[in-house]
Amino acid sequence: MTSSKKQARISLRDALVPVRAGQRLTLGARAAAPPSSIPDKKALEERTAALLKRLETLQAAFHADGSRALLLVLQGRDAAGKDSTIRTVVGACNPMGVRIASFGPPSTLELRHDYLWRVHQAMPPRGVIGVFNRSHYEDVLVVRVRKLAPESVWKPRYRQIVEFERMLVENGTVIVKCFLHISHDEQRLRLQERLDDPAKNWKFRLGDLEDRAHWTQYTNAYRDMLSRTSTAHAPWYVVPADEKRVRNYYIAQLLVKTLESLNPKYPRMDPAVSRAAHGFT
Ligand code: AMP
Ligand code: MG
Repeated sequence: MTSSKKQARISLRDALVPVRAGQRLTLGARAAAPPSSIPDKKALEERTAALLKRLETLQAAFHADGSRALLLVLQGRDAAGKDSTIRTVVGACNPMGVRIASFGPPSTLELRHDYLWRVHQAMPPRGVIGVFNRSHYEDVLVVRVRKLAPESVWKPRYRQIVEFERMLVENGTVIVKCFLHISHDEQRLRLQERLDDPAKNWKFRLGDLEDRAHWTQYTNAYRDMLSRTSTAHAPWYVVPADEKRVRNYYIAQLLVKTLESLNPKYPRMDPAVSRAAHGFT
């Protein structure tokens, strides 16, 4: 089979579908593994490279157009590949038009505000692609699992988040949310790698082991989050993330499709500028 035929087959069969509102997902190991229809490494890499070229072109127009903002939310357990997705996929974009925000434990000041305060400030302006490396969703994940707030506080947040995101969408931001889903076995391998490789030691925290010990509680929290906050205006996608190439392929494809649907246009030159510049020396 020629490489172009393979490419057509991949793009037709392997688009991610959004989580339906109310859908209950199993979130087991099978959903983290590459789908069986995924082709060999080389064809997949070629396809991803083509998507990243297209992403670069679309983002340049999106940035110049400046009429909409785009927010990509990345959630996932430790070592799910959030940082690596930013480097390898978002890295194809011109950094001038990208704004990355990472969310760790809130500061004392942030804790004195409502939980969406810091999130709202980090939203991308028009013309910019914002990427959230973790997000307001930690406020229904770690906060729930680690009992940092009572249920009476975190439960209403599903509704609050849906409403907050609706407001953002109605005001010109497009929101796409990805849950990078890895299996229990794959996380063990990746955490071990962080212990073994001196260049990766710094990423390993004691909290990672505690979170791994709460695997099932996190699965339940992720399941509720996906079911309750995937909406038509701000859909969730579950990205099978055990295989990095597959993860990159899907996220690149999602960004390309989203930008294509916005059909960004370079602004026409102001006629006054055009006249003034006519025949300049
Ligand atoms: P990492 O993304 O691995 O560098 O770690 C960031 C840490 O911050 C994770 O353990 C998150 O669970 C934690 N975190 C992020 N947001 C919150 C939050 N709202 N409340 C408490 N912990 C948070
Ligand atoms: Mg971590």
